[in-house]
Amino acid sequence: MNPTKFYSDAIEYWNGIEPSVNGMLGGLGTGRIPQVDAIASRTFLRRLDYRLKKIESLIAADCGAGIGRVTESVLLKVASHVDIVEPVEKFVSQARTNLQDKPCSFICTGLQNWAPEKNRYGLIWNQWCLSHLTDDDLVAYLLSCSESLCEHGVICIKENVSSFTESFDEQDSSVTRTDDSFRKIFQRANLVIIAESLQHGFPDELYPVKMFALVPKPSK
Ligand code: SAH
Repeated sequence: MNPTKFYSDAIEYWNGIEPSVNGMLGGLGTGRIPQVDAIASRTFLRRLDYRLKKIESLIAADCGAGIGRVTESVLLKVASHVDIVEPVEKFVSQARTNLQDKPCSFICTGLQNWAPEKNRYGLIWNQWCLSHLTDDDLVAYLLSCSESLCEHGVICIKENVSSFTESFDEQDSSVTRTDDSFRKIFQRANLVIIAESLQHGFPDELYPVKMFALVPKPSK
């Protein structure tokens, strides 16, 4: 797999998608899925209160944010400011419109090229976008996320997981990883899992969706 083509094919695909919740969710945005998703994410975050509540004026990053759906329904409930990171310009511009009165900043870049500011974030949320990064770029990205966390900060990942083998989707140029491949990547990035949960209430025909909360491995 040629990484340049892997990345450019994904951007080409997303450029053809409408900047709406339905577009973000592959046509599943009109029913109850957005709400079921947001409730489970907020419940998951409550399990991290014992860390997040210690952070004064928590800054969150919404990574691969699309039009800012997760920022609106989840992150602004816990954060005093959210940085939206998203490579597709038309999604960033829709996010600016959707979040115009909200305490948000907008960064138009792919995560493989993003250099997050050190010691800034209490919460880095990654949802349905890490399938667009190669393994090596994902490890490097997670290492840079670690450095950009403030004290008590957490990295959260909410992604589809494939039950048996990794599967490449040519249509949107993405790779659905297995639970085991995620764990190997977390180890390579020196991260430990402090909470994990399976999303319930999605239709059975979809991939299972998992949430992980990660923090840097304590240095000995
Ligand atoms: N997280 C949002 C959007 C999911 S759709 C939500 O849950 O609503 C997937 C998003 O990943 C799209 O906005 C797409 O443009 C973005 N994306 C594609 N390639 C990416 C990359 N290399 N880095 C970051 N985001 C990427």
